[in-house]
Amino acid sequence: MDDYDISIVGGGAAGLTAGLYASRAHLRTVLLESMIPSGQAYMAERIENYPGFPDGIAGRELIERIARQATRFGLEIQQFTPVDKIEVAEQKKIVQAGEKRFAASALIIATGARWKTLGIPGEAEFAGKGISYCATCDGAFFSDQEVAVVGGGDTALEDALYLSRLCRKVYVIHRRDQLRAQKILQRKALEEPKIEFVWSAVVREIKGEAVVKTLLLESLKDGKRKELTVAGVFIAVGQIPNTDLVRGICVLDDMGYIITDQDCTTSIAGIFAAGDVRKKGLRQISTAVGDGALAAAAAERYIERKT
Ligand code: NAP
Repeated sequence: MDDYDISIVGGGAAGLTAGLYASRAHLRTVLLESMIPSGQAYMAERIENYPGFPDGIAGRELIERIARQATRFGLEIQQFTPVDKIEVAEQKKIVQAGEKRFAASALIIATGARWKTLGIPGEAEFAGKGISYCATCDGAFFSDQEVAVVGGGDTALEDALYLSRLCRKVYVIHRRDQLRAQKILQRKALEEPKIEFVWSAVVREIKGEAVVKTLLLESLKDGKRKELTVAGVFIAVGQIPNTDLVRGICVLDDMGYIITDQDCTTSIAGIFAAGDVRKKGLRQISTAVGDGALAAAAAERYIERKT
């Protein structure tokens, strides 16, 4: 079994930054990632609110740069290595990934969150056949067609704005008559002539044949139902934290996010959490990298205290 000072699970912005700080502090650090270093930021076509890039930067480029910077300081990245299990022993935290086992004095969980589904008829059936959870990944398939976005948060409006550049028309279906998204995105979306809002409505069913054809909408004001013809639907209704690995180990909140203190320390000594996976007020790349730095520093202090 390989032995490290710190192991990190998850190779998004938070995990990579933790790896950068830990490696630069000369701690022997391994990062385990089920795919390639990526995370949700990797999917963003353009990131406009990450400081230092006045013209914006593609998510993919930003993540690749952080990964390069971290490996320059010696971070070992084990990609395509999905973690199956975490064990907490007296002195070590053991991470099991298939046949491989990694022991470390401290463990940083940076597994992020995944997209929520609607759980309605047709959603599973048409996944990948007109239903998408990533506008920047799949938007180009719907060039010059009519599509819908479900949700009223930052993701929904960013998706709608992105799609409005490719598609003929974008309906935004939101269950309330007020948006949750940041004001700047609201203003842009409300001013965009190709975007039409369908307020106080939910999708009850997604219908089609080989691919999506219509959405069955229900008004939450008067209960009336109508069908909306679209070629595609982008579901952007929030996230679920990827905390299955630490369920029963760390204390989670009622939404499943890991509860930490302000230094990203969890309820278990030697286990830290960084990024979207932890309970916090703002889930952004800037706060994810901040968490990565805090978690690495707290892990370093923990290791120093133990030795
Ligand atoms: P979110 O903020 O949780 O918003 C989810 C939206 O989906 C809400 O409008 C919610 O409606 C709606 N919704 C939830 N469940 C639904 C259901 N079952 N049926 C219909 N509608 C449903 O999620 P998000 O937009 O993915 O954002 C997640 C986090 O990432 C946020 O912290 C956000 O600020 C951040 N983010 C930031 C940026 C940026 O700064 N550029 C970009 C993307 C994401 P209600 O409003 O009625 O609850």
